[in-house]
Amino acid sequence: MIRRAFTVVELLIAMAVLAIAAAIAFPVYRSAVAKSRETTCINTLHQLHSAIEIYRANYGGEGVYGGVTEMRLPPYLIWMIRDLGLTHAAMRCCVPGRIHPWSGFTVFYPSPDMGANGDWKGWAKYCSEYRDQAILIGDFNHDPNKDLIDSPFVTHRIIGLYVGGQVKVKTKFGQPQMRLWWND
Ligand SMILES: [Zn+2]
Repeated sequence: MIRRAFTVVELLIAMAVLAIAAAIAFPVYRSAVAKSRETTCINTLHQLHSAIEIYRANYGGEGVYGGVTEMRLPPYLIWMIRDLGLTHAAMRCCVPGRIHPWSGFTVFYPSPDMGANGDWKGWAKYCSEYRDQAILIGDFNHDPNKDLIDSPFVTHRIIGLYVGGQVKVKTKFGQPQMRLWWND
């Protein structure tokens, strides 16, 4: 049997084949990681919904659709998590470099620190109209366009928790900070 070394051409072909294989495999691997992170946060949002329902029931706001105070929504998520004795780690977004402080989640109903600028009446009207379909909490961290989060001119991919407890991954053009982005 004659043994011979690889020629340069054969080596180049082998390297090109490997490069193509890596280029195909790498995005698949990355999207698998992204997918598993989305799944983690979908589960976290379901848990947050259960916690919010318990919190509201504790303060007599269950089954109410309207103002933040009437609904007995927690003023802050961190406050509710402490109140119910839950762990912070289990109740926040799993993606590093999150956009929003502490939990990584955006709360769509007005919080007390919004003061006079809090859209209290707007929320009450929106929630009375959309009821279980009203958007409650958003996870903006998995958006491939999160660097352009304020841009109304790109498509965003955001995970949302609705008042009724549904969690949806929505891919849509426009401004996900606007409540109605979630409803039309
Ligand atoms: Zn997340």
